[in-house]
Amino acid sequence: MPAMFITIEIDKSVHKDQDLCNRLVSMCPVDIFEISENSQLKTIEENLDECTLCNLCIEASSDEQIKIEKLYRSDSN
Ligand code: SF4
Repeated sequence: MPAMFITIEIDKSVHKDQDLCNRLVSMCPVDIFEISENSQLKTIEENLDECTLCNLCIEASSDEQIKIEKLYRSDSN
């Protein structure tokens, strides 16, 4: 059965809204977001597998500022 994994794309406009960045960090139930040293929102790669697809981050942002792409890979390789 193929395993699902995701990538999260953060639009440049998000970085200009520090309040939104902070909200995204605090609302994600599985700690996928963090603020980098240069105050940019980034994902924590090793936590991406934990995403529950709850859509809280998408609902908190607007105009596709956060995009979650579902990808599949075969475990048989
Ligand atoms: S969909 Fe939910 S779990 Fe996934 S990154 Fe967004 S807030 Fe976190």
